[in-house]
Amino acid sequence: MATFRKIGILTSGGDAPGMNACIKAVVNKAYALGIEVVGIRGGYAGLIRGELVPLTQQSVSNVIGTGGTVLYSSRCPEFATEEGMRVAVETCKKNQIDAMICIGGDGTFRGATDLTFHGIPSIGLPGTIDNDITATDYTIGLDTSINTTVAMIDCLRDTCESHARINVVEVMGRHCGQIALYAGIASGAVAVAIPERPFDEAAALEKIRALRKNGKRSMIIVVAEGLTNPDGTPYAETLVSRIEEQTGISTRFVRPAHIVRGGNPTVRDRTTASDMGSRAVELLVEGKSNVVMCELDGEIRAVDIAFALIADRMYKNKLKEGDLDRFSADELDAMRALIDKRNREIDRLYQVAADVGF
Ligand code: ADP
Repeated sequence: MATFRKIGILTSGGDAPGMNACIKAVVNKAYALGIEVVGIRGGYAGLIRGELVPLTQQSVSNVIGTGGTVLYSSRCPEFATEEGMRVAVETCKKNQIDAMICIGGDGTFRGATDLTFHGIPSIGLPGTIDNDITATDYTIGLDTSINTTVAMIDCLRDTCESHARINVVEVMGRHCGQIALYAGIASGAVAVAIPERPFDEAAALEKIRALRKNGKRSMIIVVAEGLTNPDGTPYAETLVSRIEEQTGISTRFVRPAHIVRGGNPTVRDRTTASDMGSRAVELLVEGKSNVVMCELDGEIRAVDIAFALIADRMYKNKLKEGDLDRFSADELDAMRALIDKRNREIDRLYQVAADVGF
């Protein structure tokens, strides 16, 4: 058992609905165990600038249902430098911060692991709408963002039906097409295009022509932002002109962009955030750190950050020389199993989208 008197908490990188629920859970659990909590404003930049705010059970009351992050967020390249880390650790020492909880995506976990190695035990919580962390089945924010996306597409559908139009909707997801798949299935999209699988444009155009011939007035096509043309420009916009040119059907483009990063978190995000946040405090007290909280097959578990980061690189085919050297054969098998599982999930959703999108 580690004896902590004070822990720090921050939110970093892209914000996600449910981050506030995490903060509330951490604060309430910590106080229940007699530990003080201090919030760091604006992610790792706040640790460098020393922007700290004491958090109490009163100060986090009523934040569970709010979007954004009450601690604010930022991207801070300076934190990844030796000098940035030195100042950040000094801030922790000066303010008697014994351990940190860092909420964000893979960049944020890299920061958490660096902090741990510099003497500040840290735990990561996955707060990102993209669900792009291979080690966990779920990241906080996904459910809210898909529900918001679907609500917007439902509105588009009404006007598309009135005017017999097609709407191509580009949704968030740089490396991971899960937002596109869930939103596409749930909004009855006739096609979904994601970065993980080749998109058969000719087949989609043929389907559109056939559906129109059959009397279908409105059609929705969902494209993940990560799908780009060879020159890096968004494929979704190209698809709009191709549909108009090749089918003659009036086609509009919509990019909800950051709208789906905001809004009140759903019950799913509030409960997962509460569960992960509270468990993270328990783990710190048990003396564990350098882990990220993951949901695996419905259970919340702690996964070593290095394992999580390398599993991600393996999934994205971005492994560097020597990346796998420090892992045992069992660990490498576990990584491959996670990747297989993720691929199966993408295939399953892709198939459902193809089967029901008419
Ligand atoms: P996300 O956490 O959503 O993936 P970023 O990739 O922008 O977002 O990372 C968030 C922050 O984490 C960065 O602004 C930086 O402060 C910190 N960070 C990212 N990479 C590293 C790294 N290699 N070492 C230390 N800190 C890092």
